[in-house]
Amino acid sequence: MISYHSTRGDKKIYTFSGAILKGIAGDGGLFVPERLPHFSLKQLKPLLDGSYQDTCLSVCDLFKTDFDHDLLKKLIYRAYSDNFDDRRITPLTKLRDNQYLLELWHGPTLAFKDIALQFTTHLFTEGQKKEKKHRLKKGLKQPKYLIVVATSGDTGKAALEGYVNKEGISIVVFYPYKGVSSLQELSMITQEGGNVAVYGIQGNFDDVQKSVKELFNNKELNQQLLLEKNVLLSSANSINWGRLFPQIVYHVKSYLDLVNAKAISFGEKIDIAVPTGNFGNILAAYYAKIMGLPIGRLICANNENNVYSEFLKTGVYDVRKRILVKTPSPAMSILVGSNLERLLYELTHDVEKVNFWMSQLKNKNFFKVDSETLRKLKEIFYADWVSNEDCLATIKKTYNETNYLLDPHTAVAQAVAERYQNKYGSDKPVVICSTAHWAKFAKDVYKALTGLESKEDEFKILKKITILVHGVTVPPNIANLRNKKIRFKRKYASGKESVKRAIMQSLKRW
Ligand SMILES: *Cc1c(COP(=O)(O)O)cnc(C)c1O
Repeated sequence: MISYHSTRGDKKIYTFSGAILKGIAGDGGLFVPERLPHFSLKQLKPLLDGSYQDTCLSVCDLFKTDFDHDLLKKLIYRAYSDNFDDRRITPLTKLRDNQYLLELWHGPTLAFKDIALQFTTHLFTEGQKKEKKHRLKKGLKQPKYLIVVATSGDTGKAALEGYVNKEGISIVVFYPYKGVSSLQELSMITQEGGNVAVYGIQGNFDDVQKSVKELFNNKELNQQLLLEKNVLLSSANSINWGRLFPQIVYHVKSYLDLVNAKAISFGEKIDIAVPTGNFGNILAAYYAKIMGLPIGRLICANNENNVYSEFLKTGVYDVRKRILVKTPSPAMSILVGSNLERLLYELTHDVEKVNFWMSQLKNKNFFKVDSETLRKLKEIFYADWVSNEDCLATIKKTYNETNYLLDPHTAVAQAVAERYQNKYGSDKPVVICSTAHWAKFAKDVYKALTGLESKEDEFKILKKITILVHGVTVPPNIANLRNKKIRFKRKYASGKESVKRAIMQSLKRW
């Protein structure tokens, strides 16, 4: 079995299911596996003939979890079935010669978050069963879990869909009020189900994520919740290992699909471009690379909030003078992403260093890595960013040239990938992660196509786009939002006190 420990040195060891239930380590660090498994090309080859589910099962088996093979297989087939609108789950589409789109938005909420969360929720509930048995033996009561989510737009809805009506679980979602697209907001505040709550928080995603993380690290509150309510807090964000590791699978699958499409020969390297926010997706690609997938460069694409591309180029992470800028790609508008911590751990395997950098970041809004770590960063990543204007121009240009309608997040990645290819004269195929369906960002897509700011409601704009663009339709899950009742309207002020108040309020129903 592979066990899990904190990136910050806490000596406590967790099983796979234990790490998923707990979410974040006791010292505020993130869980990482004690070692990463490796697959050889020989092990990869039989998967060429397999399905997404086969690839997923192989990756799970490699991680030697505390779930047995047959159970994992059952969970995987439950997670990835007709809840996705494409049986390939993550289809690969050719955009141009040497540019492929990995469509990660075929799940129930049209977000790439679905791919992990549709699976994570099953892992979580199975983990609860395991824990229950264990506690029964010791004569202990089974706690209930409150999943607390900070969302920049897409995680919220995907987590709500994943955890709705699950036994022994409630879920509370916090999103930056006015910091998500109106369709994203509508999809969350109309969520049905008895175990869900949604709150808008004044501030941006960084404020929300910080307040939620503080909640997890508040020992007093956690004690109180356990004693008075028998409730444990956990996370569905990519700080949770259960959210992160299923994302390794689609990077592997995209490689196999490229071989099958004869775009590369088996063993040849590819590049992967990722529109980056909380650094989860690109970290999963990095894991795939160190596990043995033939990946050349990882291309980290940012919007105008370009703190990562600055960091990956200079080794300096500096948010002292930065303020979050509004962009057409809100899911990437983040200044303090969580998963960088896991990357720094993998590069150094030095918990003291990681601890030092993270405390500098927390206290000084700044840290600088050593020259050896910077050298590694530069070797692994190419990083760049795209202005708001260029993002919209990319949507229009790509549509004009290929008839494919990109969402603003994918457009950022496409623009940076193309810049990379031009700069290095690379004719290697690049896989561009397409993380959202265009329809969720109708207003900006319309602006990109026409140059006009529309003041109409999103549903009218969607209609206009379907008239303008031949062959596109509005996905039913978005069109149906129009008739749904709004259930959550409460807006809270920023800060940990208000997040705590909201938590207490949502627990009243339990
Ligand atoms: C979450 C999200 C991202 C950023 O992914 P990370 O794993 O957080 O880096 C990019 N695009 C969309 C549409 C997203 O929802």
